[in-house]
Amino acid sequence: MKQWLPFHVPELDEDEIDSVVSVLRSGWLTTGPKVKQFEQEFAATTGVRHAIALNSCTAALHLALDAVDVQAGDEVIVPTMTFAATAEVVAYFKAKPVLVDCTEGTLNIDPEGLEKAITSKTKAIIPVHFAGHPCEMDEIMAIARSHNLPVIEDAAHALPARYRGKMIGTIGDSTCFSFYATKNMTTGEGGMVTTDNDEWAARIRTMSLHGLSRDAWNRYTSKGSWAYEILAPGFKYNLTDIAAALGIPQLHKCERFWKTRERYAALYSEGFRDLPEIICPRAADYVQHAWHLYVIQLDLERLRIGRNEFIEQLKERNIASSVHFIPLHLHPYYRDTGGYRPEDFPVASKAYPRVLSLPLYSKMTESDIENVITVITDVIRMHRR
Ligand SMILES: *Cc1c(COP(=O)(O)O)cnc(C)c1O
Repeated sequence: MKQWLPFHVPELDEDEIDSVVSVLRSGWLTTGPKVKQFEQEFAATTGVRHAIALNSCTAALHLALDAVDVQAGDEVIVPTMTFAATAEVVAYFKAKPVLVDCTEGTLNIDPEGLEKAITSKTKAIIPVHFAGHPCEMDEIMAIARSHNLPVIEDAAHALPARYRGKMIGTIGDSTCFSFYATKNMTTGEGGMVTTDNDEWAARIRTMSLHGLSRDAWNRYTSKGSWAYEILAPGFKYNLTDIAAALGIPQLHKCERFWKTRERYAALYSEGFRDLPEIICPRAADYVQHAWHLYVIQLDLERLRIGRNEFIEQLKERNIASSVHFIPLHLHPYYRDTGGYRPEDFPVASKAYPRVLSLPLYSKMTESDIENVITVITDVIRMHRR
């Protein structure tokens, strides 16, 4: 048996180490020149006017909602098939996250269900590009425009991704990225919000640092001033220069990381071709899938074991796997406050017991991928009906 294969390991080498060490030697650790460079390079790579670095994607989502003035009692539409962060930020405002089911293939938010969920209280829409496959943005933007609603994309999985030739980050009114340790590139913890809206960008920047007036971040440099004004009770969401120093070389390698993941995803799909028990993820031909996750669905009718047992079987053979996601409507808080039942979300409820995420990252070798294929084929052979 091969040695333990973790679910994710970030690819970091001497570039990242040297970059971080140079910040440590510089004496300036918090938000400063490295953050500025990281933001500028991110904006240029993505093709947007503004990129604001924050200490998480959750912070990015929170401030993107603040910028569109979400108030207590408002509603914000989010998919049920997502991580905790997408909906909790709505609850921060005492607003209501309204959950919507996904479509079968991509497990992305269903545009039809989204339109049906719009009420007079709806204030914004947060589509999530599940696993890195872009949502149906033409349909979503058309629905949003016809109801005059802003679209804030949760692109925590979607770097670098494209929808009909357009980079994710340039389509919605604002877009939020994550640099958490397991994401497509990392700063340890970190996030970025992109937007072309000057007013929102200024608001997000201010709110990310205690609501202080512009450029307060450099108040300890010779260029800065000790004086500032508090414009609003803001938050402490700024990214450090230490984190940005990690992010800059990661951003430079992001395309290469993606190419490797895309190649590995193709190897998985090829390797599982003759296993009808496994439904492989597929990218629509008009998108660039970021391949953050490789989420298979088990055809449970063909198997004598369930997904949880499948995970245990992989674990016994030294392969880590995970589940993305336990749909929000099944969690106590959203189930109880939203009054949701599993049958309100038939697609997500059916997919949840079947989904399984396999390891997919650039630090893996082709032989790791082949080993996962061999082990899964073996587990299927042992447990098929
Ligand atoms: C990881 C993740 C987030 C949160 O990102 P952080 O940077 O950890 O705050 C938000 N949405 C989705 C879909 C995620 O997977």
